[in-house]
Amino acid sequence: MDAVEATKLLAHAAAFDNRKPSKAASIAWAEALKDVPGDADAFAAVARFYAQPTQDGNLDGTRWIQPHHVRQLRRQIRDERIPDGAFTYPLPASSETGAEFVQRRRQQIAAIADGRLEAEPIKQLTDGPHPSVADALTGVGRMPDHVREALADALPGRKAREEARLRGDADALAVPCPWCHANTNDPCKRRRAAKGDKPGTWFHRTSPHPGRTDAAAIAARACPSCHAPMGVPCAHPDGRFHDGVHPGRLSTRPAA
Ligand SMILES: [Zn+2]
Ligand SMILES: [Zn+2]
Repeated sequence: MDAVEATKLLAHAAAFDNRKPSKAASIAWAEALKDVPGDADAFAAVARFYAQPTQDGNLDGTRWIQPHHVRQLRRQIRDERIPDGAFTYPLPASSETGAEFVQRRRQQIAAIADGRLEAEPIKQLTDGPHPSVADALTGVGRMPDHVREALADALPGRKAREEARLRGDADALAVPCPWCHANTNDPCKRRRAAKGDKPGTWFHRTSPHPGRTDAAAIAARACPSCHAPMGVPCAHPDGRFHDGVHPGRLSTRPAA
């Protein structure tokens, strides 16, 4: 807010606390709140401050609002408009890039925080990919089950893959591992520590690295929690990318 807006906000505060208007106060408040818009929510923050009892219940009129109160209460007012649970993301007319998704999601959340848009909670988690898509993504196509099971026992890493398939999880081996750089279809690997002047030896791990499991889920399906589309990492409500994925994205099984 600028000094003109700060003056109006201070006049609003004066109605509660009888403070005297001053140009110096307006300039100081504008400086302290230069990244906070002087909008209806800022005015509501002042009203909320004076509507709340003091911490010790003392109502003797010694309360005195400071810029940090406006900042904090305005954020609180706006956060209250954003639901705790997942809410729907309006699908774009055509496909969108990760950057476009983040931008549109941010705009949607800002509109909800402004009160211009109502968040629509997600009631049920239903979708996974169509079985034919899931099959194509696992890379195992129409391999007969008995062959698949035999392979699972024979090769390290394949057993975990088979178990994941039966659970309905995304196939981690369908993507390269971002951690150990194992290629697509190759199990994750680890290196035994070097001894003396001998280099370490590579071994196959029996289970994929967690980062690979996340990467496979991102590649295989949209997120039922944050609505990141297929191929786009999960995002926080503020638009920053999530470190990992939302749990609902890891399994195609709908939540019970
Ligand atoms: Zn790995
Ligand atoms: Zn997500």
